[in-house]
Amino acid sequence: MLGRGVLSRLHTLTQQETFTLTLYLDIDQNKPANRKRGFVVQAEALLKDLKATHGPDRQLAVASRRALDLVKKLRPKGRAAVVVVNTPTKLAEINELGLSFAASAHWRTGAFLRPIVEAMDENERYGVVLTSTTRARIFTSYMGEITEHEDLIFDTTSRSRALGTDQWRSQGRHQRRHDEEVALHAKIVIDALHDLALQEPFDRLIVAGTKKATAQLVRLLPRRLQGKLVRTITMPVIASKKEVFEGILKLQLMMEREQESKLIEGLEAELHDGGKAVAGFAPVLDAINQGRVWKLVYDKKLKVKGGECPDCGSYSPETKGPCPYCGAKVKAVAQTLDRLSQTVLEMGGKVEVIDGPAAKRLGKHDSIAALLRY
Ligand SMILES: [Zn+2]
Repeated sequence: MLGRGVLSRLHTLTQQETFTLTLYLDIDQNKPANRKRGFVVQAEALLKDLKATHGPDRQLAVASRRALDLVKKLRPKGRAAVVVVNTPTKLAEINELGLSFAASAHWRTGAFLRPIVEAMDENERYGVVLTSTTRARIFTSYMGEITEHEDLIFDTTSRSRALGTDQWRSQGRHQRRHDEEVALHAKIVIDALHDLALQEPFDRLIVAGTKKATAQLVRLLPRRLQGKLVRTITMPVIASKKEVFEGILKLQLMMEREQESKLIEGLEAELHDGGKAVAGFAPVLDAINQGRVWKLVYDKKLKVKGGECPDCGSYSPETKGPCPYCGAKVKAVAQTLDRLSQTVLEMGGKVEVIDGPAAKRLGKHDSIAALLRY
């Protein structure tokens, strides 16, 4: 997947006079719409729309064909893909991303990489310990990818070993010895986490594993690591890397949902006269036209159709009729939400596509809203 190295290479290679095509696609195979090559249809629609906006342009047509070839060959594993094509330099590549990005297409000088750069800055790095009483594995997860760093095996005399009646007297001694071992194991794990923090700093910590082992480790975590701890999850220590990754994803999704709910809460608090938010299709379009949108928020399931003025470029909530700004005849915009996202991104704003309970709450505001810069 995509690292900083790839990103800086794409940036350097596209610092040309000639235009570069950048295409962001939602390829998440957990979404039914993307299966059966649904993401190819998505790419075709985005490119068609981009061509409609830019008018006849042979370079764009060539770049679009090249981009589609790459998309058609993709066997998706990630949640999003970014395609970058600059025909004169023969640059044409597709990279998968472990995070979701708003689908959009861009035809401009320089690859449009800002969404990825921002995601890299904002994305938190997770340290993950997967532990049982006999073993501990250490992972890091960042930008939707997971790396395994260490596999520590402990030599334990198990307390759960069945005791005969003649042995019961020594059970207390076993218990003490076991407690010492647990503390020693926790110390080894904590040392490994300190080492990891030096090599690959992480912002948050997840402790996973058997119920007993996670509880014991959490109890013995030093304060600084306690502060990073977000949650514990129950999972067998022999879980595959993929299973660990899916466990983290589930947790991250839950946290994402919580953040989305907070976002809508904050948004609602600004929905008053002079507040820094607007809601509803027409008011949001108005704010986009004025370049005031800092963050566009809409429900994943929202479907809207709007128009664009061919003269002044303003968006309109109607697909026909006169432009509210200059009176010229408005034309319907295909993939309206993608186009709006694109415009907001290019003005340096952000786009948040939401789902779940927060989306339901946004339903009270026509499922679309925006936080404003001023
Ligand atoms: Zn107009």
